[in-house]
Amino acid sequence: MRAIFLGPPGAGKGTQAKRARDLFSIPQLSTGDLLRQAVKEESELGLKAKGYMEAGHLVPDEMVIALIVERMQQPDCADGFILDGFPRTEAQAVALERELEERGTPIEAVINFRVDPERLVERLVGRRICPNGHGEYHVRFHPPRAEGRCDVCGAELVHRPDDHEDQIRTRMRAYDQDTAPLIAFYESRGVLHDIRADGDMDGIARRVESALKSVS
Ligand code: AMP
Repeated sequence: MRAIFLGPPGAGKGTQAKRARDLFSIPQLSTGDLLRQAVKEESELGLKAKGYMEAGHLVPDEMVIALIVERMQQPDCADGFILDGFPRTEAQAVALERELEERGTPIEAVINFRVDPERLVERLVGRRICPNGHGEYHVRFHPPRAEGRCDVCGAELVHRPDDHEDQIRTRMRAYDQDTAPLIAFYESRGVLHDIRADGDMDGIARRVESALKSVS
């Protein structure tokens, strides 16, 4: 199964991609996570990407394309993958299409997460993340048992630097300008599945699962 999870920031792509990863036993490739790791390690790529990310701007195409192409060559991607947060521009989508065409392994499904834009800022401003990968919380909608601490490991939860209102607005603009046109791009390829992504997580997960199963 080779799938793309497409949608605006805060639509819940990452959470649903992790569930689908476990269900289908294929890796979830998040360019956001890969870039944050590079920033943490202070690699050459990380140092270049940091400023763009903290301001809420997209990282330049050539950097992200090289990163994901390298990741897709790892052996754990042989049976497929879920792309979460990539592609985000038409140039990235075209580069991905070329790369996969050469390998004879095209994208089979693109899940488009449709959400009420009014809810997105509220979701992102209140989002808090476990630094050890135990998931996401929300100060109002899904608070941890002890304030500011992960329920699983007790680590101090992180408020991402780009989850503040100004940066969120910048990210939304980048989505509207650069990423939303990909809906039509993938519709024209006949692989788009539109999913209503408001409401409870289990209901959304069921809709995602049935769309993915319909092509696998
Ligand atoms: P995310 O975790 O998906 O919200 O991504 C966080 C940030 O990483 C974005 O706001 C961008 O700065 C950068 N980023 C992640 N994926 C991409 C991409 N496909 N193209 C350009 N920048 C990206």
